[in-house]
Amino acid sequence: MGEMKVGIERIESMSENKTKRRRPHAVCIPYPAQGHIGPMLKLAKLLHSSPHNFHISFVNTHHNHRRLQRAHGSAAVSGLPSFRFHVIPDGLPPADNPDATQDIASLCISINETCPNALRDLLSELNSVAGAGDGPGPVSCVVADAGMWFAVDVAEEFGVPAVRFWTASACALLGYAQYESLVQKGVIPLPDSSCLTNGYLDKVVEGIPSMEGITLKHPPSFIRTTDANDFMLNYLRRCVQTVSESRCPLIFNTFEALEGPILQTLATAKITNTPDLTIGPLSFLLPKTNTENHSTIRSSLLPEDPSCLSWLDSKPPDSVIYVSFGSVATLTPHQVIEFACGLVNSEQNFLWVIRPDLVGTSELGSGAVARQLVGGAQGRGMLASWCDQEMVLAHPAVGGFLTHCGWNSTIEAIGNGVAVVCWPFFADQQTNSWFCCEKWGAGVEIGGGGEVRREEVERVARTVVDGDKGKEMRWKAREWKRLAEEASLSPNGSSYINFKKLVDHLLGSLN
Ligand code: UDP
Repeated sequence: MGEMKVGIERIESMSENKTKRRRPHAVCIPYPAQGHIGPMLKLAKLLHSSPHNFHISFVNTHHNHRRLQRAHGSAAVSGLPSFRFHVIPDGLPPADNPDATQDIASLCISINETCPNALRDLLSELNSVAGAGDGPGPVSCVVADAGMWFAVDVAEEFGVPAVRFWTASACALLGYAQYESLVQKGVIPLPDSSCLTNGYLDKVVEGIPSMEGITLKHPPSFIRTTDANDFMLNYLRRCVQTVSESRCPLIFNTFEALEGPILQTLATAKITNTPDLTIGPLSFLLPKTNTENHSTIRSSLLPEDPSCLSWLDSKPPDSVIYVSFGSVATLTPHQVIEFACGLVNSEQNFLWVIRPDLVGTSELGSGAVARQLVGGAQGRGMLASWCDQEMVLAHPAVGGFLTHCGWNSTIEAIGNGVAVVCWPFFADQQTNSWFCCEKWGAGVEIGGGGEVRREEVERVARTVVDGDKGKEMRWKAREWKRLAEEASLSPNGSSYINFKKLVDHLLGSLN
């Protein structure tokens, strides 16, 4: 990065009338899951520390608010005078395991019934106390997760500008947008469940620009249903429709060099009809010189194990494969054993995150067997229940990442120049994996239909850390890292410029 000033600090120095404006008040509402809260919180911090000093009202559900409190103590949600946390119900009954990710389909149903009125009430309440004492002014804009589509309607009712934040990849949106025509063509729902295993999914899907050669294995996985009324299939069709009909800007945690052609395809096909603003990788835009007052504001719903980083300190550069399947995926005991044996047999260093709920409620819930197997790795293997993933991926010892290809994990890997071994689990992960391997040259996929074999894990673990293919993927990933830095750190960078456009849009009602 040389002498380049970092992120918003530079934006600040470019701002002409920093203090003359009335302080804007943004309500940020993420979809209530880890992979959405993380990027929304980064964006909220960016707005808060921008030259316009947005007052932030960050909206979590009770479930996640309590998880943050348990993970980091009450400081994590007490915020700052100008960065407040608010809570709304999600409408679900109390969870059996309050620290496990909630069922995604149940959440999608319940938030759309419960949250619109809760958000209306919250905005009314915020406006009713606006201007009292040192408090903020009335709500002046809304940053809505694209999964919380009602929030844009609520913003309209209150007469303030909004943006939709699509926290997944642009390629995921393009993938979901194919559902409609695949249904029209009778490709989905699948004729019968044998299609999942009989090679039917190897059919190439013709005619999708930017996805030439893609087979039915790689559009987002909700097409793998025999039921035309499948909830998630239809929920995502509706989500794409909402995005297409939207009149407010759509923002993405990605960067032009990586997904620009896909955004172009989305615009040409009129899947998006508003400005698409790439503002990623968000962590790059965050002002590295100005984060002290944000240090207590955390997005991890589980406590991070700091010893991962000291363990990594003891390993040579590029020698460790980091293994994590995000916050939602669950493994069967058999899959855990195959991964554990493959990693141990590879004789490579590995750091493996086994979330407390990774193996559901079985007796393997604590990863006990994995722990036993990893015991045989003679110091080469470390297990953790959660870590600061971005710090781990930025650590020089990490040479590869065995991932489920959630979008945050993918962009965090690419942004840190780390090669990926993809084991996509569900939803858009299949599509992210295909792009990583086929278009971006930074990944290799293993498994299929959830299968995992220890021999394959052993082989790829060796390859990614030690082999020529691994070196080639790392080289490619480092090139993406350079382009990501250029997009977000250079004053002419696309993400840098788009963030300013986003701010201008959000300031609309104040101008
Ligand atoms: N993550 C983390 N620590 C871990 C594992 C994951 O902080 O030990 C974070 C990771 O950095 C990412 C998020 O959890 O930002 C997971 O999001 P992703 O989109 O990759 O997957 P999801 O959890 O939505 O399936």
